[in-house]
Amino acid sequence: MSSTMNCPDCEAEILSRMGTICPNCGFTVGYFNGTTKRKKYGKFFALTVFAPFFSFLTILFGQVNIYSFLIAIAIFFYLAIKACPYNFKDIFVSKFEKIFFWIVWGFTNGFLLVLIINILKKGI
Ligand SMILES: [Zn+2]
Repeated sequence: MSSTMNCPDCEAEILSRMGTICPNCGFTVGYFNGTTKRKKYGKFFALTVFAPFFSFLTILFGQVNIYSFLIAIAIFFYLAIKACPYNFKDIFVSKFEKIFFWIVWGFTNGFLLVLIINILKKGI
């Protein structure tokens, strides 16, 4: 992968690879700047952290009645689908990274699903 990009500081053409230093101005390409692919990665990373946390809170506070709980379940499924690594399969650099995020996604959403089932069994 030797794709190029324009330096955000001086517009010179440089490699988009992380750690590349612009020979013109000294700008260093970081992990989240540069290509749109990496911006997508930032979005995905935020979703991975934020989505399960938000679902967890809505499930907790949605237990007031069955209607709010059904909304919480709908939000959970929506966010779980949105944050699924399958939607971002083109952004992973290594196989390890891909497996890691699938495990994180499976674990957090599995936990939330068990939580929902337990609440439903217990009754609202
Ligand atoms: Zn530069």
